[in-house]
Amino acid sequence: MTSSSALVLFSGGQDSAVCLAWALQRYDRVETIGFDYGQRHRVELEVRQAFRQRLPEVYPRAVGRLGEDHLLDLTVLGAISDTALTAEAEIAMNAGGLPNTFVPGRNLLFLTFAAAIAYRRGIKHIVTGVCETDYSGYPDCRDDTIKALQVAINLGMESRLVLETPLMWIDKAATWEMAGHLGGAPLVDLIAEDTHTCYLGDRSERHAWGYGCGTCPACELRAAGYRRWIEG
Ligand code: ZN
Repeated sequence: MTSSSALVLFSGGQDSAVCLAWALQRYDRVETIGFDYGQRHRVELEVRQAFRQRLPEVYPRAVGRLGEDHLLDLTVLGAISDTALTAEAEIAMNAGGLPNTFVPGRNLLFLTFAAAIAYRRGIKHIVTGVCETDYSGYPDCRDDTIKALQVAINLGMESRLVLETPLMWIDKAATWEMAGHLGGAPLVDLIAEDTHTCYLGDRSERHAWGYGCGTCPACELRAAGYRRWIEG
């Protein structure tokens, strides 16, 4: 196992893009993993390739360090969930107080598959952009969940994998700030241009913070964070 290696859960969204840049600052070999789970909007899977391709042009740390991408077919998730992320439903809160964009157990599955790949590839660190600050409604993004899963994975695989969550305690403004610290304006521009957050998959208008409808919960978070960061 190479201790200076990481596998980043890279969805094509803003948070995971910042995590990828973060990992490239710390580790000599960085691979990415993405999941095709029948997302309503294929654009996420398209921008993640564009982002990976352009990253070394704007972010020198990526040169020679950004390695393989693993895209796993998890379309089976669509068969066991019926949510606003995979079906044509309005975004709303369900009876349990969770947004209906919640796919039960999704992050647990993603991290478990990532751990299996990391184990096979001899990679020690698994990096994920989960965050308690903005998404407290998602119980599988919580710090305790991730820590418990790390223990379960290491017991079950007889391994010493480390689950890293660089965004766990920061908000969206601080995430933009982290991108600025890591790679300056060129990295911030690439994140705005070639990542995707909008729940509606809208890429018709380019705002300073990127593409999106501007009004869905994901756009509102991303745009408000950007404004708070710019206004300092
Ligand atoms: Zn939107």
